[in-house]
Amino acid sequence: MFKAILVEREPQPYRASLKNLDESQLPAGDVTVRIDYSTLNYKDALAITGKGPVVRQFPMVPGIDFAGTVDESSNASYQRGDRVLLNGWGVGEAHFGGLAQLARIKAEWLIPLPAALTARQAMAVGTAGYTAMLCVMSLERHGVAPGDGEILVTGAAGGVGSIAVALLSKLGFRVAAMTGRPAQADFLRNLGAVEILDRAPYAAAGKPLAKERWAGAIDVVGSHTLANVCASLRYGGVVAACGLAGGMDFPGTVVPFILRGITLAGIDSVMRPRPDRVEAWRRLSRDLEINRLELLTEEISLSETLERASLLLQGQVRGRIVVDVNR
Ligand code: NDP
Repeated sequence: MFKAILVEREPQPYRASLKNLDESQLPAGDVTVRIDYSTLNYKDALAITGKGPVVRQFPMVPGIDFAGTVDESSNASYQRGDRVLLNGWGVGEAHFGGLAQLARIKAEWLIPLPAALTARQAMAVGTAGYTAMLCVMSLERHGVAPGDGEILVTGAAGGVGSIAVALLSKLGFRVAAMTGRPAQADFLRNLGAVEILDRAPYAAAGKPLAKERWAGAIDVVGSHTLANVCASLRYGGVVAACGLAGGMDFPGTVVPFILRGITLAGIDSVMRPRPDRVEAWRRLSRDLEINRLELLTEEISLSETLERASLLLQGQVRGRIVVDVNR
């Protein structure tokens, strides 16, 4: 038997609870992993509360990421005792996920845990931090460099945002952090932000073109915020868009694209090919200061995820939440 959060909707209503499951209930897969830590990401909060159509099969163990140790493997790439990491691939959505003590998955979804990180540190980074790194790598690939000017990070006090701020500042960028929580200004300065901006002016419909301000941006909010970010990028600027915390619409115009040559780079972490994942985790273990990671991490137990999920969706969680699935 093992402990897991289980999401069910039959009989109604939709609910998530802590359950004891039998190993025979695990889905098919060639590697079984004893999970040490998982996390609570935005998507996990949607799956637990049912506030977004994340779960595609019921019942489901949520949890889009985990770090742990291989218990059994019929795949030559992994042996018992190997330390591994998983992000995405539909795990926690269509295949039992990481908010459990045990997972059975396909070997090709795993990557080795980077030697520089413990399982807990890897999950403090989690899918949010891995996505932040993909956003930074995208800005770099599009030629944005520290000397080009300020980089804006929206939703800065959240998971993706806070790790993006820490990463960019460590890499030498000047970072402006946009937040709806002025009380988190010191937290964001400690992560390396040089400027704190109120998110309210970006949340409403703006003009097609605004004053040229940002050399680059990482946006987790979407909707008017993303449209306003585009309108305020400098000539040739780049925004890496990965989220929809403020809405999934994109009420912008083509004007910044055709008059300022800006680039909108979409970021998906779920189906990202393996070489990019390995590179993102290599960069995270090099470019993220572990003491800054501790600043933004809180640890909770498996059962505490149930109540935290609602708080996260209300924007009341700061930074990252690590889940010790064994307490
Ligand atoms: P968090 O909830 O930790 O952070 C989101 C932050 O967005 C909040 O802390 C808040 O920041 C801001 N925010 C929330 N609601 C609003 C709103 N209505 N208007 C404006 N800002 C708002 O979530 P994560 O950081 O884990 O994820 C952020 C987004 O990125 C989510 O939409 C998630 O689905 C997406 N994501 C996408 C991935 C991909 O593969 N593309 C992978 C991972 C995440 P503040 O309080 O500072 O204003």
